[in-house]
Order: sequence, then structure tokens, then C-alpha cells
Amino acid sequence: MECPKCKTQNADTEQFCRRCHATLRYKCPACGASQRHGGTCDQCGIDFAKYALMLVANEKSRSERAHEQMLERNSLWKQALLLPITGGLSLFKFFLGRNRA
Ligand SMILES: [Zn+2]
Ligand SMILES: [Zn+2]
Repeated sequence: MECPKCKTQNADTEQFCRRCHATLRYKCPACGASQRHGGTCDQCGIDFAKYALMLVANEKSRSERAHEQMLERNSLWKQALLLPITGGLSLFKFFLGRNRA
């Protein structure tokens, strides 16, 4: 098939133009059908751009959630690690104060 951009002849099975790398075949991210035009899927009718945006949004919210969970876990860990230190410090201060009195 001919590349719509640079008019290079490519094999029909080629997904990208071998010269300019323009997309020749679009693979539906939802049902996996491949077709020669972008836009919407001939098989399931989803909008490629919308679907991609949705995937990105999903991925983003998932990674944000994971990040939040990690932060939460980190602060818990920090508290657990700092507890003997802060606890020990206040005990130390308590003894210091008692000695001074
Ligand atoms: Zn091309
Ligand atoms: Zn599809």
C-alpha cells in the first residue's frame, strides 16, 4: 500500500511506513482489530483518541494512587522509626529536668 504521507510503497502488512514512519495500520487498543484509518474502530466503534486519553487518565490516577499509598506508608515507617528516638529524647529531657531540680 502507498504511504499517504510520502507515497512510498509499503507491504500491506506494514504497520508503519518504512520511510517516514507514518502509521499505515491502526490497531484497535480495545478489540485488537487492525485497519487502515485512524479515528474510530470498524469493529467495535470506539474512538481511538478518546480511548487513548482514557487509558492515560486511568494510568495517571492509578500511579497517583500508588504514589499516595507509598507516601502514606513512608510516613508510617518514619513515625515508627522516629518513635524510639523522639520517645527516647523526651525521656532524656525528663531525666535532665529531674536532675536539675
Ligand atoms: Zn511514508
Ligand atoms: Zn475495536
